[in-house]
Amino acid sequence: MSDHFTTSHIKGTAMADYKLFIDGEYCDAASGETFETYEPATNTKFADVAKGGREDAERAISAARKAFDDGPWPKMSGKERAAKLNKVADLIEANSEKLAEAETRDGGGTIKKSTFADIPGGAGAFRWFARCAEEQPDTVELEGTPFPPSTNYKRYEPHGVTTGIIPWNFPFIMAAWKIAPSLAAGNCAVIKPASFTSVSALMLGEIFQEADIPPGVVNIVSGPGGTVGEELAANTLVDKTAFTGSTEVGRRIMQLASGTVKPVTLELGGKSANIVLDDADLDIAAGVVLWGTFLHNGQVCESGTRALVHESIYDEFMELLVERAGKIILGDPLDFATDLGPLVSRGQVETVERYVKLGRDEVGEPLVGGGKPDGLADNLDRDAFFQPTIFSKVPNASKIAQEEIFGPVLSVIPFSTDDEAVAIANDSIYGLAGGVQSTNIERAHGIANRMRTGTVWVNDYHLVDPQRPFGGYKQSGIGRELGAEGFRAYQQVKHVHTNPGGTRDNYIHFTALSNEI
Ligand code: NDP
Repeated sequence: MSDHFTTSHIKGTAMADYKLFIDGEYCDAASGETFETYEPATNTKFADVAKGGREDAERAISAARKAFDDGPWPKMSGKERAAKLNKVADLIEANSEKLAEAETRDGGGTIKKSTFADIPGGAGAFRWFARCAEEQPDTVELEGTPFPPSTNYKRYEPHGVTTGIIPWNFPFIMAAWKIAPSLAAGNCAVIKPASFTSVSALMLGEIFQEADIPPGVVNIVSGPGGTVGEELAANTLVDKTAFTGSTEVGRRIMQLASGTVKPVTLELGGKSANIVLDDADLDIAAGVVLWGTFLHNGQVCESGTRALVHESIYDEFMELLVERAGKIILGDPLDFATDLGPLVSRGQVETVERYVKLGRDEVGEPLVGGGKPDGLADNLDRDAFFQPTIFSKVPNASKIAQEEIFGPVLSVIPFSTDDEAVAIANDSIYGLAGGVQSTNIERAHGIANRMRTGTVWVNDYHLVDPQRPFGGYKQSGIGRELGAEGFRAYQQVKHVHTNPGGTRDNYIHFTALSNEI
């Protein structure tokens, strides 16, 4: 990868520092338009990004279609595809510093997170799905039937062209989650990054070139959701679409995909419950609750933004929580000492402010936080930051306990029995994830098994791993990403039945109809 992804590097660049990646080449948007992306921490311009439109989305989809219908990628063996995807992972790792810095500057997540989670997480997704391509069988023999005496097998085949629409909270990892399984399964892909954070996904184009991924197999089109995104979901040449983002846009994606009855994978919002039982190690559980809530300022779909705490330990636990929350370091996201940087945008801060005001009206003053922080360095934009905020004794029916805030706001809810904890946890339109903190694993598993969510962490939180399926119940989504399930989601299944023939006695229709046919 070049020293820096700027105009000087991408040949022929007129204006955009970061261009669309279509059919193996970087290019301007058909309109020639660009948009500015800002570093939220300082509210200064980071780069000009090509602003794709419908025409660019169509061109990218056609390139993917041609690559799938006529190109080598779907015909390659799983082992050959795996070698290419492992090369992509190698190149991500070799360029991790540059990618991590871009990710932090563009989206405001800390450099600690980009360096230790986002970039290795993206590489890890490519490695896992490479392994799936190599190890998951294409063809599986099925039991034969006695009459007719057939042999049977099922065959996993790629869908064709898949599209992925990704959010701004984990732009690099989300790009990897949409591209890696698609390619591993033999599809060709088009993805659209979020407009707030398009840079790291566009940087991947050069990695695909260096890894010798054939032209058209991956295409990356930045641009507005209302044009590029809608085209990716609705276009008749697309065979499957995957989306991560708000539940509201997820519903729209389903509508758009229904025109051609495309399969959809949706990974949507959450309001996850992290249950602290009376037998928990409170010292550790306090850390887990803070990490489960405030990682990346709570701009994480699976954040445990409802902490359910047993009434017998409630006061002691709250003291620990408040004391620890006061030690969280807000500041420059490029500093490795910083725990929390800015939120992605001022708009997101305004959303958080609205909910905190609502929280004050609903339950009173928060025990911690509740506003913009003081004491930030002069170069930082205070309006982009928000203090970690904790509301206590929150009724589960209140809006701050029911709606996804996507900010650093924790609602703590007391409970008295395990049954009540499960009932409160499940009293949500969402069902993405949750946690149980307890020293009694059997008891914790009893609760975990009754939670209607796609993931439960016992004595932990946020441990999303490429090998384990991830996705939601209820309005948190449809389908699973990651794991073997996430690989198979990018394949169709075909059943092939073979009658050995040879004699009329082997055919059922001679019995069912007339022996004369
Ligand atoms: P959106 O759901 O609007 O955006 C997610 C992605 O969808 C972006 O790439 C966006 O493009 C695209 N998009 C937007 N509208 C359409 C459309 N009509 N058709 C196709 N694609 C579209 O999330 P927001 O950024 O607006 O965030 C709003 C809220 O969503 C957050 O406060 C949070 O609650 C939730 N959210 C949840 C996430 C999760 O991981 N589950 C991630 C992000 C947000 P563009 O960026 O160009 O608008």
